[in-house]
Amino acid sequence: MSERLALDRTASDDHLRSVVADWVEQHVPEPWRQAAADGHDALRRVRDRAEYEAWYPVFADAGLAVATWPVAYGGLDLTNAQARVVESVLAPLNLGRLNPLGLNNTASALFAFGTEEQRLRFLPPMVRNDEAWCQMFSEPGAGSDLASLALRADRDGDEWVLSGQKVWSTWAHRSDFAICLARTDPAQPKRKGITYFLVDLRVPGVEVRELRHMGGEVDFNEVWLDEVRVPDFHRVGDAGDGWRVAGATLSSERQMVAGAGSGGVGRLGGRGIEELLVDLDRASAVERERLMRLYAEEKIRDWTNQRVRATVKAGGTPGPAASIGKIHQAVLNQALQLAATDRLGAAAMAWEGPEMPHQVRGMIRSRANSIEGGTTEIMRNILGEQVLGLPGEPRVDKSVPWNEVPRN
Ligand SMILES: Cc1cc2nc3c(=O)[nH]c(=O)nc-3n(C[C@H](O)[C@H](O)[C@H](O)COP(=O)(O)OP(=O)(O)OC[C@H]3O[C@@H](n4cnc5c(N)ncnc54)[C@H](O)[C@@H]3O)c2cc1C
Repeated sequence: MSERLALDRTASDDHLRSVVADWVEQHVPEPWRQAAADGHDALRRVRDRAEYEAWYPVFADAGLAVATWPVAYGGLDLTNAQARVVESVLAPLNLGRLNPLGLNNTASALFAFGTEEQRLRFLPPMVRNDEAWCQMFSEPGAGSDLASLALRADRDGDEWVLSGQKVWSTWAHRSDFAICLARTDPAQPKRKGITYFLVDLRVPGVEVRELRHMGGEVDFNEVWLDEVRVPDFHRVGDAGDGWRVAGATLSSERQMVAGAGSGGVGRLGGRGIEELLVDLDRASAVERERLMRLYAEEKIRDWTNQRVRATVKAGGTPGPAASIGKIHQAVLNQALQLAATDRLGAAAMAWEGPEMPHQVRGMIRSRANSIEGGTTEIMRNILGEQVLGLPGEPRVDKSVPWNEVPRN
């Protein structure tokens, strides 16, 4: 067990550093601490995922997984500046946050639109990773045009009855709960009749079917709901206001995808981007130019992200740079992963044993970057319309009742 650290907003940077360093000394297993000195690769060799997951509640109980969150929800109520000091002590240990779809996508909606009771019920087990979360927004007929979704929810006393199909639901096969958008008023135009629910995936009527992607793994799923009963307590925001609630989730998802996550800009085959530049003298002039251009672009992406984060932390809004970030991340990561895979030469085409090389997997995974969290085409539409002020796309179904719009 690890007690919540006795820190608050009055703690000086030196005090923070020494308390967190003491906690590391007492609670992080010694082989991890030793390996950390040799970098993340060494750490990965001594710490497998199952071991990390088993240990993770120790980290969460200390309040360190979400240091800026209020204490009642599992955090330490530190300022952003203090959290950066904490992160600087923890960084060599690479203590990644588990349950990212909970901590980013679900929590952002609960903070903005949830009730205090909902936050107290759902946030602490989310922080400990005791209840894992996924996101069930997309449907076979509603991806880019998410607001046209069809999964139905009908009110029955203190409950709602949900029926329909979701798809692309990342990690639903190992989640306990999902955030879910459902149509509660088909007679309203598409954005107006949607409600946002928290669905327990362990109740009768939920069927999760795994989908295997081209990298060979199961990451996402189809989820079928057949008269699944959801208590009204699990509704976030007002009935019919789910599109606005979803906005909190989607903007937080975009910022997450535009950052270093999701297949890893700046992480090539599990190593830093500097790896691309190893043995540059053996590369041709054309290849060197390609690599240096990518390296420079990656630095620009990183600095732009840092600027956005600093603006947000100073109380400003992300502005155009954040929208650009999602597109830039996708295009750049695909180019980087391809370049790094090319450098492997024949080793990227054939290998011994069943395990695909880490870098080849990264290259294949990067194809999803221009789809997940909104496609690059949709991001360009948003940029064109909301940032550059270009004329909007024709949207003929915008004010038409959803149930009067022809669909397949
Ligand atoms: C790895 C991965 C994980 C995902 N995880 C989740 C998840 O956990 N939960 C979830 O709910 N969803 C998830 N998604 C779904 C994702 O949000 C959708 O795939 C995405 O929004 C695109 O929708 P779609 O696949 O239906 O494509 P479509 O919307 O059918 O688009 C097909 C093509 O048409 C283009 N297009 C569509 N409309 C326009 C337009 N107006 N202008 C120009 N071009 C257009 C698109 O850019 C795309 O190239 C995930 C997707 C991926 C790849």
